[in-house]
Amino acid sequence: MPIDFDPEDIDPHQEIRAGVRKLCAQFPGEYWRRLDREAAYPAEFVKAITAAGYLAALIPEEYGGSGLPLSAAATIMEEIHRAGCNGAACHAQMYIMGALLRHGSDDQKRKYLPAIASGQLRLQAFGVTEPTSGTDTSSIKTFARRENDHYVISGQKIWTSRAEHSDLMLLLARTTPKHTAAKRVDGLSVFILDMRAARESGLTIRPIRTMMNHSTAEVFFDNVPVPAENLVGEEGNGFRYILSGMNAERILIAAECIGDAKWFLERATDYAKERVVFDRPIGKNQGIQFPLAKAYAQMRAAELMVQKAAALFDSDINCGAEANMAKMLAAEASWAAGEACVQTHGGFGFAAEYDIERKFRETRLYQVAPISTNLILSFLAEHVLGLPRSY
Ligand SMILES: Cc1cc2nc3c(=O)[nH]c(=O)nc-3n(C[C@H](O)[C@H](O)[C@H](O)COP(=O)(O)OP(=O)(O)OC[C@H]3O[C@@H](n4cnc5c(N)ncnc54)[C@H](O)[C@@H]3O)c2cc1C
Repeated sequence: MPIDFDPEDIDPHQEIRAGVRKLCAQFPGEYWRRLDREAAYPAEFVKAITAAGYLAALIPEEYGGSGLPLSAAATIMEEIHRAGCNGAACHAQMYIMGALLRHGSDDQKRKYLPAIASGQLRLQAFGVTEPTSGTDTSSIKTFARRENDHYVISGQKIWTSRAEHSDLMLLLARTTPKHTAAKRVDGLSVFILDMRAARESGLTIRPIRTMMNHSTAEVFFDNVPVPAENLVGEEGNGFRYILSGMNAERILIAAECIGDAKWFLERATDYAKERVVFDRPIGKNQGIQFPLAKAYAQMRAAELMVQKAAALFDSDINCGAEANMAKMLAAEASWAAGEACVQTHGGFGFAAEYDIERKFRETRLYQVAPISTNLILSFLAEHVLGLPRSY
């Protein structure tokens, strides 16, 4: 019997929740276990979720999307994870287009957004991180050199997830060397890279095997030409353009962690009621109850922060602090719930057929990506508490 985690009277997105749940029921644990074993992309799941229109939630209706608020998109991602599925294969199709929507030209929006909304074009690769710069985005080296009516891109990205399964990439590259830029975040520009064309002219993708099935990759640019019309907004302002999108990304990923936490807690409480050892259900022992109760409280508190961050985002109010806190708290809550779930299941927590070890590996990522906990704490210390910058 599932725990009533979402009292209907305060959840404005019950219909979406029910719809996503129904769709996800077609993709049970066995489906995800097979993909995990084969390190394969969940093409059928992504096709179904696209066809149902969920990935176009944030695209305005005039461009063929459903024009829903971020809180609705967060509900979609949460419910996918709560059902035991993994939204990482496609979540970026929801939010990467935000940079285009907010800063692209009318021509770019008309050209790309309807095709992204229908799923005909996949814009789900986000090329920011590089091997030598890590979290220090202002030190990226990938360079876009202007030549007449196009740019020529050289450099390397790492951890570009879904690169093999995307038609377009939102690429951050330097257009002015760091030492000549007025501020360290100046001189970075954002491009829409057509990866289908680029693969024919200098772009190489090399997959990286990871702890969980994530379809991530290294990407090499060897003088890849990009038409100048694919520059988003003004040259040199790219860092500012990706920042607002990063808040949306953090809130949606936090929602996924809330979904993971609910999945772990449902599994663990069901098992704790059924599993009898020493002639009594293990759930009768407070040593089993307390970690679950604590993780539940942690999840609920994190969920409130996710809701708050989404509400601020939807009201166009700066939500940098809340989006970061939501991501950090939700990732910690899902990890605590995962840990309690493994412990509750004893040896069976390690058996692949229970899916717990798979979800445990999947949810661990979110304390590192898309931004690691230390960097969130630094952000809060400096920008909210006014402490001196530490790096
Ligand atoms: C599976 C996966 C998928 C990803 N997908 C994408 C993607 O699609 N696109 C993309 O652009 N990137 C992606 N990333 C990259 C991700 O955003 C980075 O891994 C993350 O931001 C951390 O950067 P890093 O790995 O370079 O760590 P580093 O920057 O090398 O940091 C290593 C450790 O040191 C800590 N650290 C660094 N500096 C400080 C400091 N000043 N104070 C305190 N601690 C510090 C960090 O918190 C971290 O724990 C992905 C990563 C993974 C693992």
